[in-house]
Amino acid sequence: ETTQLKDIVAHAKEYGFVFQSSEIYDGLQAVYDYGPNGVELKNNLKRLWWEAMTQLHGNVVGIDAAIFMHPLTWKASGHIDGFNDPMVDNLDSKKRYRADVLLEEKAAEYENAGDPARGAALTAEMGRLLTENDLAGVRQLIIDEKILCPVSKTGNWTEVRQFNLMFSTQGSAVDSDAPPVYLRPETAQGIFVNFLNVQKSARMKIPFGIAQIGKAFRNEIVARQFIFRMREFEQMEMQFFVRPGTEMEWYQTWKASRRRFHEALGLPAAKLRFHDHDKLAHYANAAVDIEYEFPFGFKEIEGIHSRTDFDLGQHQALSRKKQQYFDNDIDEATGKPYGNYVPYVVETSVGADRLFLATLCQAYQEETITEGEGEAQQTKTRTLLRLHPAVAPVKAAIFPLVRKDGLPEKAEQIFNELRFDFRVVMEERDAIGKRYTRQDLIGTPFCIAVDHQTLEDDTVTVRHRDSREQTRMPISALRGYIGEAVSF
Ligand code: ATP
Repeated sequence: ETTQLKDIVAHAKEYGFVFQSSEIYDGLQAVYDYGPNGVELKNNLKRLWWEAMTQLHGNVVGIDAAIFMHPLTWKASGHIDGFNDPMVDNLDSKKRYRADVLLEEKAAEYENAGDPARGAALTAEMGRLLTENDLAGVRQLIIDEKILCPVSKTGNWTEVRQFNLMFSTQGSAVDSDAPPVYLRPETAQGIFVNFLNVQKSARMKIPFGIAQIGKAFRNEIVARQFIFRMREFEQMEMQFFVRPGTEMEWYQTWKASRRRFHEALGLPAAKLRFHDHDKLAHYANAAVDIEYEFPFGFKEIEGIHSRTDFDLGQHQALSRKKQQYFDNDIDEATGKPYGNYVPYVVETSVGADRLFLATLCQAYQEETITEGEGEAQQTKTRTLLRLHPAVAPVKAAIFPLVRKDGLPEKAEQIFNELRFDFRVVMEERDAIGKRYTRQDLIGTPFCIAVDHQTLEDDTVTVRHRDSREQTRMPISALRGYIGEAVSF
């Protein structure tokens, strides 16, 4: 039985992972909030990425740039002129759609109906029209294909317009003529404009990288896939600066390294794939997506792009400040130093929220289990999150078997010993089976039961989430045992 996205959305809400933003006002489209368990899981993912980048690679350092940037930044990056989606409105329902998505869905329909050639032809035609910016042609194609609005079931379409995805806000309290300030649609530009500040202050030698985690904003038109596509989201990006001519080597290195990261987190190799871009963006000479098989199909979680000297070159041109590096390594071909150049860039860019969703989809499992023995044996379904212990919101739950005989006090002692190293919780209420179930639902890898024997010999039972097996061990061994399991 395959897991549906709606099961995951419901689970995420019920157990405090993700809530719709402003839910009491019926929500704000494509914006979400993280609950008590969600924020822990997300912080763990971000921390692991950060450590993988800045700790495991000696030549990657971090920054935290502001969300607001000088408006010329977005002129230089190409976002003001080119960061558009083709938009079309339905006149009856007043609903807005992405024209390319409507056509893509139609193409998928042909494919599912056993006519992949027709689907491919439609996709190709759409690609041609969009490349030529023939928006009237795109509209005609929607009409010719008899595409109906999913809501009103009518084909009453407006003209197709290019819609810029950047949010803007009024920036100046002192100057009414000041241009609008944009909310950054990607974190990368904060890295590019700080290239020389970082290189000089941290005395970095090429090749080196700059990593950043931060919010980004895009006024996306489609919004049907939960936190997969949001209007406010978080990116984890790393720009790696290299000598021109070496970028393909680094592109391959990072491509492999990033895939290993996702596998180490528990995304199985069979549900990950590389998808090379058929059509390269104007700034790239190679680009690949790492895709994960979500319940709604293989979709991008991370992009790896070889961006050449496009970004630094553009900022050099618009700021009129040299964005060059002096490379004093000797070029064997000439016997002289490589000298001054604008570095090339290999970028890795992953959405924290998409990685969160992939992790949750992968971890969510419903399984049939048999409990008890003889007459009391029963079969039931259990739902659990098989999260990697390193990302689980709670690492261990401590349960006194009963609420008397000094067991709660003993449990509290253990809780106080472990809380400095791990996020642990203590639960006294309800039957122990019920307490196990609650921890399974949020993915806690270990439950520690304190019973009467504990009072005698200072041992506890540790129950394992995935196997439900229990091991008896001394209290003094807990820290080492949990520590080993939660390391990444
Ligand atoms: P898509 O094709 O899905 O719109 P993209 O190719 O525009 O994504 P990039 O600009 O390469 O995405 O951004 C890098 C990463 O940022 C993506 O791989 C994704 O994980 C994340 N991301 C981009 N847009 C969103 C969004 N609207 N909501 C959540 N995450 C996003």
